[in-house]
Amino acid sequence: ISISDPIEEHRICVCVRKRPLNRHELQKKECDVVTVPSKCVLMVHEPKQKVDLTKYLDTQTFRFDFSFDETSSNEMVYRFTARPLVETIFEGGKATCFAYGQTGSGKTHTMGGDFSGRTQNASKGIYAFASQDVFLLLNQPRYRNQNLEVYVTFFEIYNGKVFDLLNKKAKLRVLEDGKQQVQVVGLQERPVGCAEDVIKMITTGSACRTSGHTFANASSSRSHACFQIILRRRGQMIGKFSLVDLAGNERGADTSSADRQTRMEGAEINKSLLALKECIRALGQNKSHTPFRESKLTQVLRDSFIGANSRTCMIAMISPGMSSCEYTLNTLRYADRVKEL
Ligand code: ADP
Ligand code: MG
Repeated sequence: ISISDPIEEHRICVCVRKRPLNRHELQKKECDVVTVPSKCVLMVHEPKQKVDLTKYLDTQTFRFDFSFDETSSNEMVYRFTARPLVETIFEGGKATCFAYGQTGSGKTHTMGGDFSGRTQNASKGIYAFASQDVFLLLNQPRYRNQNLEVYVTFFEIYNGKVFDLLNKKAKLRVLEDGKQQVQVVGLQERPVGCAEDVIKMITTGSACRTSGHTFANASSSRSHACFQIILRRRGQMIGKFSLVDLAGNERGADTSSADRQTRMEGAEINKSLLALKECIRALGQNKSHTPFRESKLTQVLRDSFIGANSRTCMIAMISPGMSSCEYTLNTLRYADRVKEL
């Protein structure tokens, strides 16, 4: 594929990715209700019934910077989403890329890939592809002699608390100084010298993310994971790329659960996803007020939402099955609101 930097002039890019029906859904003979008629358009065909019981399809059309259908690879998605942001961090800017969507829609698959050894072939996700390109750029004549160093961090935000995935889930404090600089105290920044080093960090952090909890999957669907690639020169930060695998957006609806813990987590997730939307919109509209303090997620990413050289990309992930229709529409409406106006 050939692309000229597709979002060069935009600060915000919003895309959608449809995953294929999985084995389980195929076994249940679930209908695929999502079509991608062209590279920017995505349609949801929701089965409905009239009062006289005749059935019909209610089709809703959405338009994004890119729509990826079920045949697209992680590499393809990467090229059109995060890839154009890699240069930003070499030019003194901050970049962010978010994976948003329902649990099971493909956020972790897209961002982290799979290096667990569970699948036959390790598959790269956006964390790995972005790191690879950072090292590629670093070794180009333009940047080779600039004494740039690369570091990575990997942490999780669970119920408003930050845990270091590269340091046995150590609980970390977030401090904001008088100059509104936000610092995650003690967050491990690991130096990396090549893309293979980064893959080791992704593997370590991902294993840490899904272990140590009784409800492993439930917990990863309730937390935001943030993988950062940081460029420094003699200690000074030059740029930062934050790649975020967000908590399942359906969890934000758990605010009326019978269980108090679940209810509180749901409220926290809801709050952070709403704050995120507002922060990205503020960035797109060059607004002076950014409500980053509304949640831990947006507070920690504060410096990425301000500044002339900040750019962001959101990938809305959707499950194609009929049973996910309601969540899919919620996801698409949210992504629609994030788009630059
Ligand atoms: P999430 O992180 O959003 O909860 P996952 O990334 O864990 O969802 O995906 C759920 C399952 O679907 C995983 O087994 C994953 O490998 C699979 N999957 C997700 N996206 C795709 C895709 N585009 N192609 C093939 N399998 C996928
Ligand atoms: Mg996940």
